[in-house]
Amino acid sequence: MIAAQAVALGGPREYEQLCRGCGLGNFSTDVLQQDGRFHSRKPLNDLDLLEPVTRSLVQQVIQEAGTLGISLMAFETYRSQDRQLDLFDQGKSQLHTVGVHHYGLACDLVRDVGGAPSWEGDFSFLKVITRRHRLIWGGDWGTPGQPHKLYDAVHVQRCSVARQGALFRGEWYPADDYDPYTDLDENGSITLMASAEVRRRKPRTIRLKSIGLKTTRTRVSVPHELLVGGAGGYSHLGEAGLVETRL
Ligand SMILES: [Zn+2]
Repeated sequence: MIAAQAVALGGPREYEQLCRGCGLGNFSTDVLQQDGRFHSRKPLNDLDLLEPVTRSLVQQVIQEAGTLGISLMAFETYRSQDRQLDLFDQGKSQLHTVGVHHYGLACDLVRDVGGAPSWEGDFSFLKVITRRHRLIWGGDWGTPGQPHKLYDAVHVQRCSVARQGALFRGEWYPADDYDPYTDLDENGSITLMASAEVRRRKPRTIRLKSIGLKTTRTRVSVPHELLVGGAGGYSHLGEAGLVETRL
């Protein structure tokens, strides 16, 4: 109620100022869920829809890229479940359930060409910059030494892949001082166990629409390769259902 009132007063920024530290919940529950755009079917690039620490880090990445002569812009910050379903139905995403973007913890950064978004060119420069600013890059998911079949070069997030399941279940949200790389270092076993789980399980209920088979809403772990795909330049691959996803 307080959150709704605060947002009604102005928006995410105002709410943040009013409610920072009041302990009601987290940015996702207190701000995003109260925002009028929670069900938006359009891509949203408002940085205010990023959790504050994530927002700051994304801004630092954009700024550092600028010093290298690369002009970046956010193409998408928050994503609704409604939009995810649209993308799924259109064959642009193979994920039925929205991922880390839904929680204000992920951003897609593309080139800014005269104010228009562009996916042209190489984005591997993000590897170093994102790591420096403690964001996970979708090109290596924070673990470049491991094979990844998902390559999402414009995606960054402040959440390790191993934490995504807990995030999606509402059991976890990053604290301000959360560092996904420390998380990976300290909880590598989680990642390894999850990976083993992914390899072991057969995709018994996952049937991708794009290949004309059924989908179910059953929650299962999915092999990485089933999540690979997408259409053309904007193949938003998946925030990740790398370890656990809900289709
Ligand atoms: Zn993304």
